[in-house]
Amino acid sequence: MANKASFGVFIGRFQPLHIGHEYVIRKSLEQVDRLIVLVGSANVARDPRNPFTYEEREHMIRSAFAYEMAQGQVMVEPLDDHLYSDNAWTAEVQRRVHEIVLAEGNSGFQANGLDDFSISLSGFGKDQSSYYLKMFPAWGNIQIDSQYGTFSSADIRERFFARIPEVPDSILSKGVAEQLHAFKMSEPFKALLAEREYLDAYPAEWGEGPFVTADAVVIQSGHILLVERGRLPGKGLLALPGGFVNRDERVRDAAIRELREETEIGDSKGQIPPAMLASFIEDSRSRIFDAPGRSLRGRIITHAFLFRLPERRKLFKVKGGDDAAHARWYRLGELKPEMLFEDHWSIIEQMADL
Ligand code: NAD
Repeated sequence: MANKASFGVFIGRFQPLHIGHEYVIRKSLEQVDRLIVLVGSANVARDPRNPFTYEEREHMIRSAFAYEMAQGQVMVEPLDDHLYSDNAWTAEVQRRVHEIVLAEGNSGFQANGLDDFSISLSGFGKDQSSYYLKMFPAWGNIQIDSQYGTFSSADIRERFFARIPEVPDSILSKGVAEQLHAFKMSEPFKALLAEREYLDAYPAEWGEGPFVTADAVVIQSGHILLVERGRLPGKGLLALPGGFVNRDERVRDAAIRELREETEIGDSKGQIPPAMLASFIEDSRSRIFDAPGRSLRGRIITHAFLFRLPERRKLFKVKGGDDAAHARWYRLGELKPEMLFEDHWSIIEQMADL
């Protein structure tokens, strides 16, 4: 049998890639034959925390590791978030890695299966890597200490959006620095700047929270009812109909009120009255979504209610109103996660059993 190949796995968001990440990649390559770099949060819409798309981040890695990628020593793959299911996320990591390892086995390594390979997770900093290790007990661990101090992608993003002082090129490799400079001329950068300014002003205007919101997950005959956001934050993205709970109302009533205001859902006789809408709620399927970082506005805890409308050939009529640009039915199969605001894709994934 030919020599076994050893694989490393390095998971990160790389928003953006910096020399600390690059150092981990180079050091890992001293210990493994091939390194699989999984680019996390590949399926989220751009926002100030995730300003670069998967393709842009793949390009950053390619600019720093062109030779190693051409040689097949570094492989880059997208990895989606499943915010409310660590099992779904872990399974996706395992699937991505095993597919690559098996493909390698089929093309020259003549392995009999995964057992013939050794797989290790690369990480930096004890806490961070032990967190990952717990999720992948079958894999080894490559511990790499940074020689560049403790700066992070978050520091870089902070400076990038503040513009002054500029991000020092010394913590970015040449290709990445050039990509960031070019990005500053782009329309998405302008939109992100506006979003950043809005978010910076948010706590002073509205307070720190926690805030309570209600969202409606409305399903009818394989379709879901969504609104296109007409304002910041997330202007132009799709969202579940929903909003902040008023001081004097129950959370469930807020979901019904927001649904009526934002979509004017109804039939030929007019809007569906609140009591009838309430009868479509599946109480056993309604739940809280509270990932601490789910909104960049602050701590916002939402309660999502599943409205299962009767299946029929003609979907209920809807119309855009209130602060939503417009409401419309989307086939569940046509939705792309990156079209959705904040964690709404992860909520839909849970509530609609996708
Ligand atoms: P990151 O880009 O911030 O960091 C990636 C790695 O680089 C980490 O090991 C980090 O410790 C290391 N690193 C950072 N700064 C360094 C420096 N100065 N020197 C050396 N190394 C440095 O990425 P992250 O946020 O840790 O990425 C995790 C990804 O996994 C995210 O996309 C997250 O959404 C995803 N995730 C998802 C789920 C889920 O969906 N259920 C669960 C867990 C993780």
